[in-house]
Amino acid sequence: PIIPDYLAEALRDVEPDTSGEPAGYIPELAAANPERLGAAFAMIDGEVYGAGDIDTEFTIQSISKPFVYALALSDRGFDPVLAKVGVEPSGEAFNEISLESDTGRPLNPMINAGAITVHSLAGTEGLKPRERVERVLHGLSAFAGRRLKMDEAVCVSEMEHAHRNLAIAHMLRNHNVLTEDPRVIVDGYTRQCSVLVTTRDLAMMAATLANRGKNPLSGEQVVPEPVVRQVLSVMFSCGMYDAAGDWATQVGIPAKSGVAGGLIGALPGQIGMATFSPRLDGHGNSVRGVSLFERFSSDMGLHVMEVP
Ligand code: GLU
Repeated sequence: PIIPDYLAEALRDVEPDTSGEPAGYIPELAAANPERLGAAFAMIDGEVYGAGDIDTEFTIQSISKPFVYALALSDRGFDPVLAKVGVEPSGEAFNEISLESDTGRPLNPMINAGAITVHSLAGTEGLKPRERVERVLHGLSAFAGRRLKMDEAVCVSEMEHAHRNLAIAHMLRNHNVLTEDPRVIVDGYTRQCSVLVTTRDLAMMAATLANRGKNPLSGEQVVPEPVVRQVLSVMFSCGMYDAAGDWATQVGIPAKSGVAGGLIGALPGQIGMATFSPRLDGHGNSVRGVSLFERFSSDMGLHVMEVP
């Protein structure tokens, strides 16, 4: 088994690195076991290879952002979504309260301001908040190829401390980027972030992007191909918070990280990759996850700017 052996060896090499801290601002996340470590590759034919804790569930957090962006683009069409959320890298932290000064439009869908707005655009117009959350859960499940659920405890824990996201949402409401009650949208966005996934699920979700939007297991076309191109482009330029430029040059794979310690990468036409390790660096990216992806990229020549 060449790939599982390779993955197990890569995990052994990064395991001693205990630098970084699990996210502290959501009390339930701070309580997570920081030693967890897993990596999985999902091929576009549906084969999954993994090593370590690949069946441990954790909350998806910001890794939901590209997938819900994909759902909004496919539910509403490009123009209504682009009118509300840009595609420019911000170079700022994920929770920066930054909006375009004249329009109030969030710079991109990967920072919280953009992702909160994108949540409001998931599903057809006029859905009730609860139906919208259901659309999001259903869509994320379609990307994973199995029915996912939410971690109510993490959701409640985050909502109790969601002052910053509430502030962002009120700013968005002030600019009419959001047109509903900001508290209801943040509640839905927080539910979206608390969907439980495993490393295996994340690899399969990434493989669905790599496979032109078609889930390799179920065969379901989850979103249309032009949507996938848009989403992967934004992941490439904005997926790693304020470390996106370092990532683009050193790893060179469209990617997204989440504060629970997950990290995904998707290589068009080839593979979906995911890692899980809860300790985060100063940008909010998984320390061991970043090391693993650097290694995968250089060992296998996966940088998208490199001729294979
Ligand atoms: N729910 C988190 C927040 O909005 C997600 C952050 C992340 O994973 O980067 O603060």
